[in-house]
Amino acid sequence: MENSGGCMCGKTRYKVTGEPVGGVFYCHCNDCKKQTGSPFTVAAGFLAECFSFEDDSHVKTHVTVGDSGTSMDRVFCGNCGSPIYSKTALVAGVFYVKAGTLDDSSWVEPPIEIYTKDKIKCAVIPSDITGFEQLMPLE
Ligand SMILES: [Zn+2]
Ligand SMILES: [Zn+2]
Repeated sequence: MENSGGCMCGKTRYKVTGEPVGGVFYCHCNDCKKQTGSPFTVAAGFLAECFSFEDDSHVKTHVTVGDSGTSMDRVFCGNCGSPIYSKTALVAGVFYVKAGTLDDSSWVEPPIEIYTKDKIKCAVIPSDITGFEQLMPLE
């Protein structure tokens, strides 16, 4: 599978190959809400080596610390502010790409949701998926 995507202004474009390896999921955590301005985010994990920017001259990173105490790099377009992907030392080598930035996100059907403890009322998503109060269990 090959996917392309990019930010709102078009200055930050990327390609990502291969199948998602780190899960495809809804995240209800408060940092994702703040970063995206949305009730939740949808992300798909890809191997870092499968991801490449066409031009990274506008790419910026905001580092936060998750409640596991591990840092989370939130990578975004510094020109228009669109979040592109997140990565955490907790799962080395995986980029969690924001599904909304994919040119074609029609295949994205997350089977799980995480951080349901922070889920807000208007985040109505399919009820037949698996929920975790915080992070999904790692291998
Ligand atoms: Zn941009
Ligand atoms: Zn989150």
